[in-house]
Amino acid sequence: MQVFKFGGASVKDAPAIRNLLQILQRYTGEELVVVISAMGKTTNFLEGVLRAYSQQEDTSALVEELMRYHLDILRELLPDDEEGVARLLALRDGLTRKLAEPYSGRYDYEYDQIVSFGELMSTTLISHFLRCSGIANTWLNACELVMTDNTYREGRVDWQCTGDRIRRAVPALLGQHQIVITQGFIGGTAEQTRVTLGREGSDYTAAIFAYCLDAERVTIWKDVPGLLNADPKRFPDAVKLDEIPYQEALELSYYGASVIHPKTLKPLQNKHIPLHVKSFFHPEDAGSMIGDCVLSTKIPSFIVKDNQTLLTIFPKDFSFVAEENLSEIFSLFAKYRVRINMMQNSALSFSVCTGTDLERVKECVEEMQTRYKVKYNEHVTLVTVRHYTPESIRRVTEGRTILLRQTSRTTIQYVLLS
Ligand code: ASP
Ligand code: MG
Repeated sequence: MQVFKFGGASVKDAPAIRNLLQILQRYTGEELVVVISAMGKTTNFLEGVLRAYSQQEDTSALVEELMRYHLDILRELLPDDEEGVARLLALRDGLTRKLAEPYSGRYDYEYDQIVSFGELMSTTLISHFLRCSGIANTWLNACELVMTDNTYREGRVDWQCTGDRIRRAVPALLGQHQIVITQGFIGGTAEQTRVTLGREGSDYTAAIFAYCLDAERVTIWKDVPGLLNADPKRFPDAVKLDEIPYQEALELSYYGASVIHPKTLKPLQNKHIPLHVKSFFHPEDAGSMIGDCVLSTKIPSFIVKDNQTLLTIFPKDFSFVAEENLSEIFSLFAKYRVRINMMQNSALSFSVCTGTDLERVKECVEEMQTRYKVKYNEHVTLVTVRHYTPESIRRVTEGRTILLRQTSRTTIQYVLLS
């Protein structure tokens, strides 16, 4: 059996969903679990709904806009359909009921209860459309299969429980020649609340299912021909990497290449399950493969992350930055879940670059400021070049103000003014 994952861009409108149907038709007769994200920019939109809700603003117009988007797509796919409409409206009612409850003040918890509707809607619509198009499938609720703790917005998977549930539900359906359709990005807790696995978490969901089911492979269908050495929107001459060892892919995702969610690779590597990244425009093309292989060519890869914050931390008492300070600083980062993308220390200061929400960074800094002086530069850019060359360095730094620079044998990183 294999696991497919379709991201937001590959289900963003009716033509994209027809294209998904055509891809699945190429795999008729195969055992497939299909993991699907929210459609287009729905997750961002729902984040806006949550913001309005948390500020006690009226959300009804936003909910209507969200529904119109989904219903228009459904009508374009299935003009006379009633059943799909009814299912979408039932989800809308669930969302409206949720938004009628008083805001609990627990932002991360509310985030997961609300933003998860994006995936519930997309999979409901697509599962119904596929069934009407002759693809036998069963819709499964990932909130009852992917079990996590209650770290909202970053649920940590309980592998034992998740494995048991997935193995109890999925193989029987595949045996009955049903494709399984489920949601990426979302899961559930033992208390039956919904969680999310972190932005772009649908890749991780695909890996979770693949791991628990010992899949032959995972395929992520994207709007690019495969894994590229740079974002083609910034680097028009980006090229495709054909075969990438797990370790190299892990490093790329560690530095923030938006190709694959960083948690995705470990479960796959542990079971030697290859991950294919393929173009949903050209499903016949080979795409890229991450697996047990050797890196064929060491061309530079570019990873650019905007909207970073550079923190520079100085002990107030003019002491050196040493083990005691560092361990205190790190435990604060851990406490506030501030994720560090780059760090550097000197005698009297310690600098980190983070992409975590400014809100959360500020909470962390507030606590830090009792013992440290903290300076920050907001909205800076972090550029990482793997397998760098003089030419690739010139390319990213020319005409830019460099705030910080760090090199190793394979990687160079710059924090630049945006
Ligand atoms: N819909 C979620 C997001 O946009 C998860 C995903 O697409 O992987 O982050
Ligand atoms: Mg996505």
